[in-house]
Amino acid sequence: MQIILASPRGFCAGVHMAIDTVQELVDLIGTPLYVYHAIVHNKHVVERFERQGVTFVESIDEVPLGETVVFSAHGVSPAVREQSADRDLRMIDATCPLVTKVHVEARRYAKMGHQILLVGHENHQEIKGTYGEAPEVMHIVESPADVARLDFPATQPLTYLTQTTLSIDDANTIIGAIKERFPWCNAPPKEDICYATTNRQHAVRQLAPSADLTLVIGSHNSSNSVRLKELSETDGTPAHLLDDKSELKDTWFNGVERVLVTAGASAPDDLVRGVIDELVARFDGKIDESELVKEDMTFALPVQLRILKHEMDL
Ligand code: SF4
Repeated sequence: MQIILASPRGFCAGVHMAIDTVQELVDLIGTPLYVYHAIVHNKHVVERFERQGVTFVESIDEVPLGETVVFSAHGVSPAVREQSADRDLRMIDATCPLVTKVHVEARRYAKMGHQILLVGHENHQEIKGTYGEAPEVMHIVESPADVARLDFPATQPLTYLTQTTLSIDDANTIIGAIKERFPWCNAPPKEDICYATTNRQHAVRQLAPSADLTLVIGSHNSSNSVRLKELSETDGTPAHLLDDKSELKDTWFNGVERVLVTAGASAPDDLVRGVIDELVARFDGKIDESELVKEDMTFALPVQLRILKHEMDL
């Protein structure tokens, strides 16, 4: 079996930063330590931190007064920051800077009097955070049908913004519908779908047609991982999304000679390696790595953590 290993795959700069933030805090101040929402959308990452005593919460009320809380890579709304301040929590913000960029755009356009069409998945944590920046002017759109339901006079300034981990094709379809219905609608100054989402989707688009099957390592709540699976299927190559090698099924591989392996931006490399090693052992797989783009993006640790480290060094 030929194993086509997509590159880039797996961890992005935002995920690296968020995971390093929690690990550094565990090493520096220990537990109790609270994280608001899954630090990144990966089951194994969360379980590994839970084994170290980290507590993940979905409501700030669950964090005892005065404790430390980390905000996940997906970002939070101003209301969550206010609730945390009311509980006198030490806040460490591990929001990916590329998500923060969308929050800044939302605040800026709301201040300029725009109504904002927020393209994304209503229940996704990132959209909840961005929406919360200016709920009074936000309209979440998940499909062209949602666009058709909106109505604005041509005198109303409009801007669209998008979630960072959308399918590029789906986003383009919805943006096309927005431009058709509201031709005066302003676009964000720079693409909101992030470099990591774009690079992983481009790699699958390029490599999946030459494979009989695509395996995407990632969790089912990971938006960008789910999009990679859908993209392969849309382009005609069956695909499976799996958390780790224990989920591999022999029946998937009947008649499969070439398998494409990729991973969502929150999937740890040791899990990807585990799947590859299993394919090599089970099917005498030969690895063929295709590096289509080199990624060298890195993000600094949150400023609150850098200050804390400095204080503890003194
Ligand atoms: S997928 Fe993109 S936006 Fe999300 S954490 Fe990674 S770099 Fe940041």
